[in-house]
Amino acid sequence: MANNHLTVEVFKGKAASVNSYLFSNGQSLLVMDVLRSSEEATQLADFIKSKQLPLTTIFITHGHPDHYTGMDVLKKAFPEAEILVATAEVKQDIIGFSQWMESVGWLDAEPNLKPKSAENPSGFDYDQHINVLNANTITLQGGGTLEIKSDYHSAEAEHLTTVYSQDLNALFTSDFCYNGVHLWLGQGVDTQHIQNWKAELQNFKQKYADTGVTIYPGHGDSSDTKLFDVVLSYISDFEATIQHAETKEVAMAKMQALYPDWEQSDFLLLYSVDYHMGLKAAN
Ligand SMILES: [Zn+2]
Repeated sequence: MANNHLTVEVFKGKAASVNSYLFSNGQSLLVMDVLRSSEEATQLADFIKSKQLPLTTIFITHGHPDHYTGMDVLKKAFPEAEILVATAEVKQDIIGFSQWMESVGWLDAEPNLKPKSAENPSGFDYDQHINVLNANTITLQGGGTLEIKSDYHSAEAEHLTTVYSQDLNALFTSDFCYNGVHLWLGQGVDTQHIQNWKAELQNFKQKYADTGVTIYPGHGDSSDTKLFDVVLSYISDFEATIQHAETKEVAMAKMQALYPDWEQSDFLLLYSVDYHMGLKAAN
């Protein structure tokens, strides 16, 4: 294990305050999640090239565009690298989200991510370019193993993947954890998803108690296992706020007062409040 010791660096995206993680064993590189825009992914590609090692794998943890939009830029910058997801379900989530984004015009800003079709033969070929791991580990070229887990109940996304490294004693939670960034509790994260999310956080708490593990969240700074309680408290505060607020404006003000320094209130929080106040009004 000593001769394939892994290291990790974070590249912080601006849009959505999302993280990209670059793993190295000194011989090859693997990048996990690739930011929300092609523009930022170009900066990420430069950062990766500065390491002067081959990038073999572009690993995507789940089918949300803040984690996969950069893959077109990265695939072109590193043609030898394989785009990889844990399961066929994650691949399908990515394809479904891109089809939806195209249908509502969101991909006009990222035309290279429009799905390849008969009408758009130069579009991104999701089926061809995204490979499915179907295994519980990834070993970097030259050594160093990442443990992959994806059999979670639907929570922040339909299918989330976490990565654990024994070398680093580090858990990369993807979007089960945010730190100092408002959580996505918007479209797709219904009340059942929220219950599942809380249950998975409790499972993490038990599993990683007294391990000294470092937690690397999908958004925001790394932490220790106290982060599980921070996220659990945030979710409870969000639920109580939605339950008691009469209007979206009141709910926004309450959450901003509780979490004054957290980032993305004008995006992640706004859409989350909008969605759950809408659900409440419909019931
Ligand atoms: Zn995210």
